Amino acid sequence: MTFEELKAMDDTYVMHTYARFPVDIDHGQGATLYSLAGKEYIDFTSGIGVNSLGYGDPTWISAITQQIQKLGHISNLYYTQPGPKLAKELCTRTGMDKVFFGNSGAEANEAMIKLARKYSFDKYGKGRSTIITLNHSFHGRTMATITATGQPHYHTYFFPFVEDFRYADPTLESIQAQGGDDVCAVMVELIQGEGGVRPLDKAMVQALAKLCQEKDWLLLVDEVQTGIGRTGTLFAYQQFDIQPDVVSFAKGIAGGLPLGGILASEKCATVLTPGTHGSTFGANPVSTAAGGAVMAKLDDAFLKEVQEKGQYLRTSIENLGSPWLGGVVGMGLMLGVDVKEGHTNKELATLLLDNGLLCLTAGERLRLLPPLVITKDEMDKGLAIMKQTLHD
Ligand SMILES: *Cc1c(COP(=O)(O)O)cnc(C)c1O
Repeated sequence: MTFEELKAMDDTYVMHTYARFPVDIDHGQGATLYSLAGKEYIDFTSGIGVNSLGYGDPTWISAITQQIQKLGHISNLYYTQPGPKLAKELCTRTGMDKVFFGNSGAEANEAMIKLARKYSFDKYGKGRSTIITLNHSFHGRTMATITATGQPHYHTYFFPFVEDFRYADPTLESIQAQGGDDVCAVMVELIQGEGGVRPLDKAMVQALAKLCQEKDWLLLVDEVQTGIGRTGTLFAYQQFDIQPDVVSFAKGIAGGLPLGGILASEKCATVLTPGTHGSTFGANPVSTAAGGAVMAKLDDAFLKEVQEKGQYLRTSIENLGSPWLGGVVGMGLMLGVDVKEGHTNKELATLLLDNGLLCLTAGERLRLLPPLVITKDEMDKGLAIMKQTLHD
């Protein structure tokens, strides 16, 4: 099949909900991808923060193939090994108490929202269901999670939205101003991803954690993008020295298969009970076996390398001397690059793609989420494409 044939089929039969780049991707190895016609691309996207182990990782492939030969799905009516094994690994490495598995980031955040409302209902009864979220946040595309998303352009067309969400700026004063007797939780991303790679201030986050404790508001941390090694620690909250009540994860956990979930602290571990929440595909054995292979790779030495690679990319980009780029923000291998006036991030991403480098955009910034296993050689190839492309 040629690219033109593929594009024509997609245009005819697939709903046009994505503004795709005019490029196909057929296969990959490490952090390098190839189109049907054999054109090579360096990947600074990981399929939007998903392919943590890049492409073709042998232990990941072996974990998936071994599991799928035994059992691909059985439902949550029965016990099966990979889910509990992955849950144990996640709890042991975070000190959290229990896991619920779903299939995506939005579904993980839905579980987190339901848990927060039931926690409060169980303890205080009705009338305490409001969740404060932040402006520029992104929490997903289901009805509750687009409502939770603090970007007004998401709050159109689909009326009525879910009740009881309020939005604050990422300052303690602004969050306090949205507080009240009706609040049960505050939900934040520690580095806002789709909203533009916007890190929250550490002292603010610590003060927020204290405020939440005083008010018995649950602190819900959406680590769908920042979690599972992306920022150089298993979860980003570990670098903010806070203890969230519930943490959601998804994108990177299964290295490319659909899997998401939440980790609840002891206080929140028994809120969701039989019949109050569930998911047919949740904890799918193949996805959770893949998650086990990802977690096994993410030891301390690996995470330290993620930090070092992030530092290398950041300084190299700052030293490119591109007149089109400004400073670099972010943590680990979640980086945002400022784009100078006169150019847009979309325009730059398109030029880079033409020259063989996949990059993301977020807010006004270029967003880089390379596979965590990217090599120095692959980073250097990507940097060379940036240097060659991003000048007059
Ligand atoms: C991607 C993302 C989501 C939504 O995840 P889906 O798997 O697309 O539903 C939610 N929160 C954050 C922070 C994300 O980056």
